[in-house]
Amino acid sequence: MKKRIVVKVGTHVITDGGKLCAERFEKLIEFLSLVMEKNDVILVSSGAVATGFSKIKLDKKILPNKQALAAIGQPYLIQYYNEFLQKYGKFGAQILLISDDFDSRKRTKAAKDAINTLLENNILPIINENDTTAIEELVFGDNDQLSAHVTHFLDADLLVILSDINGYYDSDPKENKNAKLILHVEKIDNDVMYQDVNTGSEFSTGGIATKLKAADFLLKNGRSMFLASGFDLSDAKNFILEGRHSGGTLFALKS
Ligand code: ADP
Repeated sequence: MKKRIVVKVGTHVITDGGKLCAERFEKLIEFLSLVMEKNDVILVSSGAVATGFSKIKLDKKILPNKQALAAIGQPYLIQYYNEFLQKYGKFGAQILLISDDFDSRKRTKAAKDAINTLLENNILPIINENDTTAIEELVFGDNDQLSAHVTHFLDADLLVILSDINGYYDSDPKENKNAKLILHVEKIDNDVMYQDVNTGSEFSTGGIATKLKAADFLLKNGRSMFLASGFDLSDAKNFILEGRHSGGTLFALKS
């Protein structure tokens, strides 16, 4: 039986110096096409605002500007994905969702039907939040929560978050050199989940807190999440393609 895997990439992973980075896309798409050979893959990609900003320098702190940047960047982002997917004889499809879509059974079903049809045809659904109407997303939100919802409501087996960090540590590794990677997490404590506000870059919205919230949501719904580096994909490859846990953090109940 094919597994269904949702992969989420953060802005940092696909951009360099504020621009979409060909070298990173090359590696990411190679990885995704390998995963797609044996699994149904759904991609959740950030990066629209950063891409928009590489085209026109609007002040991102002003909400309508940020929304405009997302609208400018999103088509370039999809175009870029398609250029790289083409090398593997594949292409992607854009799906824009807001959290409200998951509150409505009708809209969730519509999204589900469309995504299932794409997967049946071996097309990569590329999901992003619809920033123009998702006001809260731009102020507080992040694609970590969106990808957790997609994983749950689309009945996926696993959410893989590819980040600028290679897993979850016992403290922020950028602040503490002795921080230790935690390979397996079964439960997220509330005080840990709400402590952190640091995000990795000016375009990141999440930080580790939103990843923990995503993991908590999935654990409570009987699903799993794997957090690994999006720069060096070897841990993600080992885990997904070979079932070998060489690094990265698995959030799952031990079976
Ligand atoms: P992305 O852009 O991939 O969504 P972020 O940059 O927003 O990711 O969040 C990851 C960052 O969270 C890391 O680079 C790291 O500096 C920070 N962080 C804070 N605490 C931790 C921790 N305990 N374990 C791992 N990363 C942490």
